[in-house]
Parts: sequence; structure tokens; C-alpha cells
Amino acid sequence: MKESVIAAVERLLDNYLEMNNHRKTPERYTILRAIYSINGHFTLDELKSRLAQEMDFPVSRATLYNTLNLFLSLRLVVRHRFQGSTKYEACYDNQSHCHQICTICGKVTEIKSPEIIAAVDNMHLKRFRKDGFTLYVYGVCSTCQIKLTKRKKTVKVIKGKNKNKTENEQR
Ligand SMILES: [Zn+2]
Repeated sequence: MKESVIAAVERLLDNYLEMNNHRKTPERYTILRAIYSINGHFTLDELKSRLAQEMDFPVSRATLYNTLNLFLSLRLVVRHRFQGSTKYEACYDNQSHCHQICTICGKVTEIKSPEIIAAVDNMHLKRFRKDGFTLYVYGVCSTCQIKLTKRKKTVKVIKGKNKNKTENEQR
């Protein structure tokens, strides 16, 4: 992540802490830097181990959770509830989130879609200032499609032949 982006998000955090008379503990700034050094999605535990192992800054899960919630409210971070897991993502310089999600393996991929960004930009919303959006496109990834096709073929073979033999051939 660019230094200018990190400087900008630190300034936002500065402003918030000053406005609300909170102390500027180094903890929140270190967590913010760690978040902005990660490319893409991360879980709370991934962030925890990054802080502990790479930055030599162990933080409890409770502290991380509270800090992430603060960053969510400041829109420095977005939270995704993907199948079976909650993931976070730094979002200061990227307010348009388009993701494709495989409903079989749960794989999440970020997609670039200038058409959708333009369409949302052009939407007229009453008494509302747009700041960003999140879009999830659900479907089946190519790897899972191949597996599904193989399984269908296997089922056809099993109907006429010995089941165990077919499974061994598959391996
Ligand atoms: Zn998949």
C-alpha cells in the first residue's frame, strides 16, 4: 500500500480520536498499518498472526475485534460475510467492491467492473450522498464446474457398472 494512502488513513484516525477525546495509543496505529499492508481479504486471525509474527506486536483477539469495529465505522475497513468466514479488507482508496463468490468451494475473487461502477455512479438517490458500494456475484468457479462435470459422468458409469471399480479409476 502506498505511503500516501497510509498517511491519509492515519490522518482520519487522528481526527476521529481528537474529536472524541480518545488517547492516541500506538496500538490502533500499528493495527491500521498492518491492515493496510495486507493485499486483499484477511480474517481476524490472519491479522493477529501478522501482527505477532511479522511486526512483533501481539494483540488480543478482543482488542483486534474492537479496533476492527472502530475502523468499520470510520469506513477504513469493510467486512464481508463470506460462506463460513468473516473477512475484512482495507478500503480507503477502493470504495467500489465487486466480488465473485463460488457457492461450492467458497472461493472469492475481486472483479474489476468499470460498467457497474459507472452505473452506480449514475444512479440518482434521493437525499443520500453515495460513498461506495459492495456487490457480490454468486456462481460456480471453473474448478468446481470441472469437478461437477466429472461427477455427473461418474454417476452415469456407476449406474451400469461396479461402483468401487469406478471410484478407483477416478483416483
Ligand atoms: Zn469453486
